Amino acid sequence: MSVVLVTGGAGYIGSHTVDALLTYGDQVIVLDNLSTGHRGAVLTEHFYEGDISDRELVAEIIQKHGVEAVIHFAAKSLVGESMQKPDLYFIENTGKTSQLLQTLVENGVKNFIFSSTAAVYGIPEDVPIAESATISPINPYGESKAMIESICQWMEQAYGLRWCALRYFNAAGAHPQGHIGEDHTPETHLIPLILQTALGQRRNIGIFGEDYNTEDGTCIRDYIHVCDLAEAHVKALKGLLQDLPNGPYNIGTGFGFSVREVIQTAEIVVGSSIAQQMLPRREGDPAQLVAQANRLSEATGWKPKMSDLQTILSTAWNWHNRHPHGYTE
Ligand code: UDP
Repeated sequence: MSVVLVTGGAGYIGSHTVDALLTYGDQVIVLDNLSTGHRGAVLTEHFYEGDISDRELVAEIIQKHGVEAVIHFAAKSLVGESMQKPDLYFIENTGKTSQLLQTLVENGVKNFIFSSTAAVYGIPEDVPIAESATISPINPYGESKAMIESICQWMEQAYGLRWCALRYFNAAGAHPQGHIGEDHTPETHLIPLILQTALGQRRNIGIFGEDYNTEDGTCIRDYIHVCDLAEAHVKALKGLLQDLPNGPYNIGTGFGFSVREVIQTAEIVVGSSIAQQMLPRREGDPAQLVAQANRLSEATGWKPKMSDLQTILSTAWNWHNRHPHGYTE
């Protein structure tokens, strides 16, 4: 059993990771300021509403519970917003995470799992993308996360920080039990928008560009089920407490699907056609993002189990049907 502090544990990926940790019998403490997370998504009794930059609160949590490791999700994560307000992203993500890391090290916590992103790669030179690919973000969101990875490297050198950065590709789906799922305001992600269209909450799903250099002209992404992603955090945590090497790990499946393929599979899952509209390209979207995703598998035995498109869409559909307006608290 480990004692783990999960920042952002009221969010989409955070709540699924808390669920997985609890299943393994770990003691889980959530710290979340509920700026975008939901109280109803917090699955542990140990919940603190507060900010990662609140040094006194973080120190108190560490001492009171005997925290051994931190899984850090709390962050701003909207690419478009980051283009409009880059300063906000560097303060909220990079600045506050530096403060958090300092508080952790000062209080003797040296195991750190960081929620990173494929956005650190920018427009990749080669697909699938390996961890050794050039880091060249094209938006402040990706840059703010890439900077945190560098900070971790320096803190490893200075203080012996044990860390890994999980670079997520496209997190999707929901817990098969239907008690937690994806609920963002505003919603910008493809799968929830498709399913909200199927529920009649939107008139159609806009497809951002059909002139990419891909088979059907729409963008290709590597969709990873949020429960597989959660499991990757658990495996990374257990590994870090033993001999898992520090550094970045891609978390994807290694397989890509186009926007059209996702919509077609959604139509099969929901059992009806879904209205579509062609729109221009969205700024900053690379044609293809697919992970070379074997580093964590080779080191820990982690393997995606629920990331076929059908399972992703049917678990997400179950969540949206049961919670058509998301969380109630
Ligand atoms: N996408 C789309 N219409 C939408 C939202 C997304 O066509 O309303 C496309 C987007 O261009 C990308 C893919 O769906 O190729 C996944 O986008 P999402 O925002 O879900 O994740 P991202 O890849 O930006 O992390």
